[in-house]
Amino acid sequence: MAAIGELKPPERILLGPGPSMVPPRVLQAMASPVLGHLDPAFLAIMDETMNLLRYVFQTENALTFPVSGTGSAGMEACLVNLLEPGDRAVIGVNGFFGQRMVEMARRCGADVTVVEAPWGQAVDPEEIRRALGQGKAKVVAVVHVETSTGVLQPLEEVVEVAHAYGAVTLVDAVASLGGVNLPVDKWGIDICYSGSQKCLSAPPGLSPVTVSDHIRQAVNGRKIPVQSWYLDFSLLKTYWGGERVYHHTAPVPMIYALHEALRIVQEEGLEARFARHATHAKALWAGLEGLGLRLFVPEPIRSPTLTTVEVPEGIDEAAVRRRLLSEYGIEIAGGLGPLRGRIWRIGLMGHSAQQRNVFLLLAALGTILHEMGVRVDPGAGVVAAREAYTS
Ligand SMILES: *Cc1c(COP(=O)(O)O)cnc(C)c1O
Repeated sequence: MAAIGELKPPERILLGPGPSMVPPRVLQAMASPVLGHLDPAFLAIMDETMNLLRYVFQTENALTFPVSGTGSAGMEACLVNLLEPGDRAVIGVNGFFGQRMVEMARRCGADVTVVEAPWGQAVDPEEIRRALGQGKAKVVAVVHVETSTGVLQPLEEVVEVAHAYGAVTLVDAVASLGGVNLPVDKWGIDICYSGSQKCLSAPPGLSPVTVSDHIRQAVNGRKIPVQSWYLDFSLLKTYWGGERVYHHTAPVPMIYALHEALRIVQEEGLEARFARHATHAKALWAGLEGLGLRLFVPEPIRSPTLTTVEVPEGIDEAAVRRRLLSEYGIEIAGGLGPLRGRIWRIGLMGHSAQQRNVFLLLAALGTILHEMGVRVDPGAGVVAAREAYTS
């Protein structure tokens, strides 16, 4: 076998649905010496990481820690701990990630009622109420930012309805935590998971979760053990909680990365961080409309962290993305499922949400579309975004 060359990944501007760009400070933290996962120095870092996570989740929940795995691992962890065979779950589905929750809940043996909304719209709390009125459910689950469509789901009413019917609320905050306001305790969300690589701007590989105390009791009172040994909260609690008993070897450099990424969130402050995401998103939206493009989601439920925009008639959307990547080093994404070929998905998450990235993308996209024969002033996007920034 010939010698394999040194690893040389190209530098990219990551404006897709995740991963987002990782700040140099976070990469540097990952290169720190690896400690043993029970070293007192590492246990102190774990405690700090949990405290920082409570800050971003805006919660006092004792069980707030990163699951070892990506966002889907957090999703699976929450579902396998909550659901026993035969339990009823009401799941809001308005895109790809809601569907993934349904798939996982069914694998737990749950009796799943799907409350559907068209892709690009929010799930209607009244439809959740109707589903709950038809029979007792243990869990109501929804996605906060549905990354397949860019819809920001209003949560407060969903939680209210769920609690009125004695169900707990599970929220997918993978594409929202650290980018839009999500006060877990204030809104009464019972259990919530996220991902390290989206609005927190650490690399992919950890899934922060927060579990309210009364859910922990419900999990402890299960009739049968959680079928996943690796994701069983009652076991994970013995490592992340007070006892500090070995369960699995923590991915130490990833915890360093998350710790540093969360410190950056704390330095910036949650309010300022949400405001920054909103400012750059608004400029991006103005710029895309300046290029004559149509935004896919109506403004009141449009997430600032992930923007979806319709592909103009007759344009090969994948060819545009290939050119963005090869000529400008910019990554954006295409549509999933029914939206394949119809939309682009542009993320402004965490460290990626910067003015220069907005300008660069709009300049590049305007130029490419112009060259592909779309009748558009290639600079119109930048001009419109500049106006949005200064108005
Ligand atoms: C990215 C994402 C996930 C899945 O996370 P992975 O890290 O890819 O496993 C789940 N839900 C939402 C809303 C996401 O954006």
